[in-house]
Amino acid sequence: MTLVTDVRLRRVLDSRGNPTVEADVLTESGGFGRAVAPSGASTGEFEAVERPPSEAIAAAREHAVPRLVGEAYAGNQREVDAILHAADGTDDFSKIGANSAVAVSMAAAKAGADVLGAPLYQHLGGAFRGENFPIPLGNVVGGGEHAADATDIQEFLVAPVGAPNVADAVFANAAVHGEVSELLEERDVPSGKGDEGAWAPSIDDAEAFEIVAEAIETVEADVGFEIGFGLDVAAAEMYDAQAGVYEYSDRTRDTGEQIEYIASLVTEYDLVYVEDPLDENDYEAFADLTDRVGSVARSATGTASGQRQRADRTLICGDDLFVTNTDRLADGIEVGAANSILIKPNQIGTLTDAFDAIELATENGYDSVVSHRSGETEDTTIAHLAVATDAPFIKTGAVGGERTAKLNELIRIADDAT
Ligand code: PGA
Ligand code: ZN
Repeated sequence: MTLVTDVRLRRVLDSRGNPTVEADVLTESGGFGRAVAPSGASTGEFEAVERPPSEAIAAAREHAVPRLVGEAYAGNQREVDAILHAADGTDDFSKIGANSAVAVSMAAAKAGADVLGAPLYQHLGGAFRGENFPIPLGNVVGGGEHAADATDIQEFLVAPVGAPNVADAVFANAAVHGEVSELLEERDVPSGKGDEGAWAPSIDDAEAFEIVAEAIETVEADVGFEIGFGLDVAAAEMYDAQAGVYEYSDRTRDTGEQIEYIASLVTEYDLVYVEDPLDENDYEAFADLTDRVGSVARSATGTASGQRQRADRTLICGDDLFVTNTDRLADGIEVGAANSILIKPNQIGTLTDAFDAIELATENGYDSVVSHRSGETEDTTIAHLAVATDAPFIKTGAVGGERTAKLNELIRIADDAT
């Protein structure tokens, strides 16, 4: 273990062109770690607080840096993160900013790994598990808060659940993304891309389902393994709490209708993954839906291509619902809301908190899905976190430099480990 000798904070660019917080952690024996905070757009109501980067940096310099330098050991993640909490003094990082906190937390972990000369995922206590790698969830068509005038459902995702190795999985997602583009062209639908690199055409959800299903089929035939279909509904963004309805472009659905609709989509598209299908305050509705579709074996399970035992049920995943928070997850576990949790370290502020959420999930039979944010950078910490915690899925997008940074890191981890 090695003493922290300096913590440097600066503003750098994220993928949306906004400033975000970068942290460097330096240690006595020459260890160095650098990490950058990501940033959400369709943020959950209960996330830790992101402050404007210049304010977050000033507050962290005043309150956190003096407590870390000469005091904390970079290899001791729990100690570093406890100091960040103590320096902040609130329960949501509203003083130093969750963006400063997570950047320092992740940079300290990297400095700890650097001192050991170990890859980050090993330092975080994990090992690469051959064909049981985290399956990348790639966003191929999207709208919601990530692109105007596009689909109501925020993300149409693909998950190459039958891929024999990480590299084949990564390339399969990119191939579906490319195939979607060709299908849009055939239909004369012009399209730009949303914040996560997904195509963001002005089509309705029904047409998006049609196109993504066809693209999956084409690429499956080409690669010879199963590619699953998934969604991030981001339903909190379309929920009108006053009226108690989910607002789609062409109609509204009350909670019962929303549950019916999602359940029918799960059956029709054999969905592997459904994130935030209901409002972030509606644990009961999450529990109802999970009860209906969350433990049913998927039809493709057991086929030769179905390498991944853990893709054998539909994951109903809580993102805005749980916000990587153990208290909210505990509430969900109590009533059976969802069967998996999205893990975004910046939603909770430190790696230790993210680990605690994963541990609580695992103990209760919930899967953990490690995720990027819509505003990202070249930082690759989540690739290591997914491997370290043996997450069945990692959500990283399919293309675009800040997305491929994570995907390429997964390929390197697999290559170095085998
Ligand atoms: P966000 O979106 O990073 O903008 O919150 C991603 C998601 O909802 O999963
Ligand atoms: Zn989400």
